[in-house]
Amino acid sequence: MLPSDTINKLRLACGSGALLTDRVSLTGYESDALAFFRHAPDAVAIPESKDALAGVMKVCREAGVPVVFRGAGTCKSGGPLALQGGVVIHLSRFRNILEINEQDMYCLVEPGVVLDKLNRELKSRGLFYPPDPSSGSVCTIGGNVAENAGGIRCFKYGVTANYILGMEAVLANGDTVQFGGSAGGLGGMEGDWKALMTGSEGMLAAFTKIWLRLCPLPEKAWTFLAGFRSREAAIAAVEALMRMPAVPVALELLDNRTVGLVENSDFAVGLNKDCCYLLSELDGPAEIADRQAEVLADEIRRRGAESLVYTGEEEERQKLWRARKAFGGLLGQISASTIAEDVVVPTSRIGEVLDYIYTRAEALDIEVAVALHAGDGNMHPNFLFDSGNEAECDKVRTLCAQLIEKVIACDGAISGEHGIGSDKAGFIPLVMGEREMALQRCVLNCFNPDDRLNPGKLLPSRRFQKAVTP
Ligand SMILES: Cc1cc2nc3c(=O)[nH]c(=O)nc-3n(C[C@H](O)[C@H](O)[C@H](O)COP(=O)(O)OP(=O)(O)OC[C@H]3O[C@@H](n4cnc5c(N)ncnc54)[C@H](O)[C@@H]3O)c2cc1C
Repeated sequence: MLPSDTINKLRLACGSGALLTDRVSLTGYESDALAFFRHAPDAVAIPESKDALAGVMKVCREAGVPVVFRGAGTCKSGGPLALQGGVVIHLSRFRNILEINEQDMYCLVEPGVVLDKLNRELKSRGLFYPPDPSSGSVCTIGGNVAENAGGIRCFKYGVTANYILGMEAVLANGDTVQFGGSAGGLGGMEGDWKALMTGSEGMLAAFTKIWLRLCPLPEKAWTFLAGFRSREAAIAAVEALMRMPAVPVALELLDNRTVGLVENSDFAVGLNKDCCYLLSELDGPAEIADRQAEVLADEIRRRGAESLVYTGEEEERQKLWRARKAFGGLLGQISASTIAEDVVVPTSRIGEVLDYIYTRAEALDIEVAVALHAGDGNMHPNFLFDSGNEAECDKVRTLCAQLIEKVIACDGAISGEHGIGSDKAGFIPLVMGEREMALQRCVLNCFNPDDRLNPGKLLPSRRFQKAVTP
């Protein structure tokens, strides 16, 4: 509980109606997309302006209260959880697209703008913003920047960091800073601070404005869906397509358990449940894309695909991608709880790590369905279990720890795109030595020396010592 004078000051700072303190309202802010890690904040502030946000930050600093920023709460690593209580600052009122500059190919947005909404606006002007996490219909640009979100198109187009030209941010003491701007800029002695902020998981500052680089909408796109009886053949096809001069936009794999889930839903597209599927895409100028589509289709057939559908028709293409993107939400239909793991390995090790996942999950009697951004080596094994059953929780904890060890042994990384958050903080000592962790600490010390911003994330030692709620 926050002292009543702190609550009064917060209420004054963020304006009436924008401070939530009742239990029922706070329940909605207890968790992120993983749902079963729950930590209620003491209050939620929903400021409507930068001044109000800065005011809230100042009150929290003076009162020694932890602060956690929140976009849409779709994070899968515990990022927006208030581990030590305090104030969650929900940036949902920062939802304006401030400028779309067609001449200079950038836009300026507030952090609460929903990703798909931005792309709908851009489409009418023949532009798009490429990074596309599958949560795009809900997640916010602020959350994408804080997590350096990836997605399906990132094989060709790159991740969020490749599109950040600049940002305005409010620091822990309430001061406003700006790094970069509409022209971007990569630094030299000036330093690339916007790159440092990208992927900072809510530990350095609150973004209040973000400049994003835009791309012209491709004239034509083709989507490919190929079924393979054998997992090995599907992975070999990914490796072959990765090397094609006509770089595919996306190289996604769905295992046969994932396929079963899609086919039992309204998103069914006629997949064979005994196969795993490769979803790919090509885009570019119409004439070139049409020609390359035939080359890519031939290569997929040559790699032993049992079935192949490919289409340049917009509605059909979107239907195929919807089936892929719906998968995460469908898991809730068959399992009380899901852990969506997120690891990345060199593509040549995908087969080995997949085999390991299935073998270990079977040994522990835990269901698993795996979707992969395979071109990036980014794997999402989804472990299905009941979080009310302590024995099952223990098994899933064991599985995740074994997977991380395996991934490290395969020269991989412990997060491909979901971030470290609280979920993986305990594994950081496995991938960083003392020197690396000390350097991380130096950066945090510049912005957030007492760990009041998003405590408990990234490094296990990051605890705010003067927290109001123990
Ligand atoms: C079905 C599903 C599919 C997904 N698919 C993908 C995918 O393909 N690729 C991918 O990368 N991720 C994916 N995710 C994970 C998630 O959607 C992303 O991490 C997304 O970027 C989170 O955005 P958000 O607005 O929900 O942020 P939140 O979950 O609210 O917050 C995430 C982090 O950002 C910080 N933050 C939020 N706003 C700000 C701000 N304005 N300033 C500073 N810090 C801030 C928070 O403190 C927190 O640490 C998926 C999630 C779901 C549920």
